Amino acid sequence: MKVGIIGAGSVGSATAFALVMRGIARKVVLIDSNEKRAQAEAMDIAHSSPFAVASKIKAGTYQDLAGAEVVIITAGANQKPGETRIDLLGRNVKIFEDIIPKVVEAAPNTILLITANPADIMTEVALKLSGFPKERVIGSGTVLDTSRFRTLLGYYLGVSPKSIHANVLGEHGDSEVLIWSNGDAGTVQIEKFAEMIGKPFTPEVKAHIDDCVRNAAYQIIEGKGATFYGIAGALSRICQAISTNEYAILTVCSHHDDVEGIKDVCLSLPTVIGKRGIHSVIYPRFSESEARDLKFSAEKIKQYSEEAMAQLSSDKQN
Ligand code: NAD
Repeated sequence: MKVGIIGAGSVGSATAFALVMRGIARKVVLIDSNEKRAQAEAMDIAHSSPFAVASKIKAGTYQDLAGAEVVIITAGANQKPGETRIDLLGRNVKIFEDIIPKVVEAAPNTILLITANPADIMTEVALKLSGFPKERVIGSGTVLDTSRFRTLLGYYLGVSPKSIHANVLGEHGDSEVLIWSNGDAGTVQIEKFAEMIGKPFTPEVKAHIDDCVRNAAYQIIEGKGATFYGIAGALSRICQAISTNEYAILTVCSHHDDVEGIKDVCLSLPTVIGKRGIHSVIYPRFSESEARDLKFSAEKIKQYSEEAMAQLSSDKQN
């Protein structure tokens, strides 16, 4: 599989490294407005080739994206300590106006995989700017948040996070919704599992896990300035599902006609991913409070998406 990555900063370079080390991409092209950075990252990662699965990585230009099955967009401003993802919107819309048309021209059949923040709204922006069908515009969405949730549940329940099936849906951001009502470990619902092992999810335990998932990025950014390994794992997992036509269910972000009564909104739901990109979306059953929280999350994204669309049309007129 050939993967292009636009933005060779912390997320782009960590993702390239994950793709090469896991043998998911045979060819990786790194593109950045800072060409020296892209070249240096490509050279550094290439030096791990003898220890990885044979792959070629290089810094390149947009023309080098020809034939890429996936183009990952990580280019953009990132959060500074204290900033929310939404604070990045205006800056990153401008960057997408520069990038997306060039990607579309060079790789008209590619799948766009959006990770720049605020990721749900940037997915909507990429959909609009590219004119691609919605099956080929995927946001990394809450794949990362879901993996944070599963990791913490796995540690708490004493089982591998890989054996936990519990999801975070909605916004990749402050209004995300942890779905406690229908997660399971093995075949046992997670709350029942916790009771069975004598460690019930008290309101305090749930609140602590919720806080650690929802506010993980703030904590990591406070400590080291950026988050990149977790998202690199998530992006490489999505590429793997596309590359192997896996039909894996992942909580990616995509455009939905209706979520809890909110029309035309990009957010994360369990989604079947394969060679064509999005194959289908599975709308889960929620508890009443989860449905209410998901509606709130959809309303929030919708509001900021409308702002982004207004910016796009005013930039077009100027
Ligand atoms: P970074 O500053 O390290 O890298 C961004 C790179 O984009 C820089 O190298 C910059 O030169 C490049 N760039 C900027 N404008 C460009 C343009 N027009 N064309 C080409 N390259 C351009 O930032 P980062 O830490 O890698 O984060 C990148 C984005 O990913 C941010 O928006 C961040 O918030 C987001 N992010 C998302 C998730 C997620 O789960 N969705 C997780 C972590 C970070």
